[in-house]
Amino acid sequence: MVRVQTAPKSELALHGGVPVRRTLLPYARHTVTEADIEAVAAVLRSSRLTTGPKVAEFEEAVSSYVRAREAVAFSSGTAALHAAAFAAGLGPGDEAVTTPLTFCATANAALYQGARPAFADVRDDTLNLDPAAVEARLTPRTKAVLPVDYAGHPADLEALLALAARQGLTVIEDACHALGAADRGRKVGGISHMTVFSFHPIKAITTGEGGMVTTNEAALAKRLRLFRNHGIDSDPNARQASGAWFYEMTALGFNYRLTDLGCALGLSQLSRLDAALAHRRAIALRYLQAFAAHPELVLPAVRPESESAWHLFPVRLVLERLSADRAEIIRALHAEGIGVNVHYLPVYRHPYYVERFGDQAGTCPVAEAAYERLISLPLFAGMTDQDVEDVIRAVTKVCAAYAR
Ligand SMILES: *Cc1c(COP(=O)(O)O)cnc(C)c1O
Repeated sequence: MVRVQTAPKSELALHGGVPVRRTLLPYARHTVTEADIEAVAAVLRSSRLTTGPKVAEFEEAVSSYVRAREAVAFSSGTAALHAAAFAAGLGPGDEAVTTPLTFCATANAALYQGARPAFADVRDDTLNLDPAAVEARLTPRTKAVLPVDYAGHPADLEALLALAARQGLTVIEDACHALGAADRGRKVGGISHMTVFSFHPIKAITTGEGGMVTTNEAALAKRLRLFRNHGIDSDPNARQASGAWFYEMTALGFNYRLTDLGCALGLSQLSRLDAALAHRRAIALRYLQAFAAHPELVLPAVRPESESAWHLFPVRLVLERLSADRAEIIRALHAEGIGVNVHYLPVYRHPYYVERFGDQAGTCPVAEAAYERLISLPLFAGMTDQDVEDVIRAVTKVCAAYAR
């Protein structure tokens, strides 16, 4: 075996050596500019703090960015997922097939509506839902498929939409990682029946907390708007303009509205999205190049028809080539000043899911094997060249120390 570089374990910061950097680099961090602050301050000086002109402006900006006919803003990505599950008609007795390799909110959306999430395995390259595995999980009760664009790489949307068309299913795409990603030249957001985005501070753009559902179907948009505002079927701004006071509640909805403060921030952030995505892509390419020669790492795959939004840079440790387990590698990187994270514990292994649905261990072997090995390295638009080089140095140092 050829080894370019070896380092004794004693040089690791974990064992008292000099760390690569003194201040911890987080795995993700938002960027807020003076222009963002000004945009929010202007709303604070205006007459509307919520459900005013900024909400419609932000919805319009996102729908035109992703090229979808409609966009409906929500108070979080989770609220947006819940609303999409409602709009799809999910209810008790229904099932929704999703990936185990996601944030729990994706599967929880089905639970909120009284439906049951069924987990299908992922592909080994992109770690996105495997359409063949989805097909194998369909039952007469399946009503929806919830793919996730894992790490920002679009799911197999064409295959999933074809399957959905054959079986009469609704595709709710969780694109919380993937604002700005594209599949066969089409932006994520205008492809699936409904696409869900999050504007949490670790995502591509932020509104503090916030989310959006985009869709090309007016009927779905109508149901989404109903659900966002308690199930009340008229628009408060239109009522106010016409002096009408009467309203009726026709479905059980929630207060899932996004504020004008958040939308002003989102609009300002959106104006920098393409630049931020270009920077994320450049960092990912630098990592791919720097780690290509590391046999201890399996790097994230990008399929030729896809353009990733590079929300995460998840690497899989080749544990057979390392003398430490993942926990120790994470501790060693942390000691070098590099914050990493794990995306994700398979959803059905969370205690709530085990208690409610029983032990489903072994049902998605690709996702489970990936989970044991995954580490997400720092990747965010505010990273400097020095930050990126620090990550490369630390990963190279730790891999060399534990290589076998
Ligand atoms: C962030 C995220 C969510 C939830 O979004 P919030 O805005 O935090 O509620 C859902 N799914 C995935 C895959 C996410 O990354």
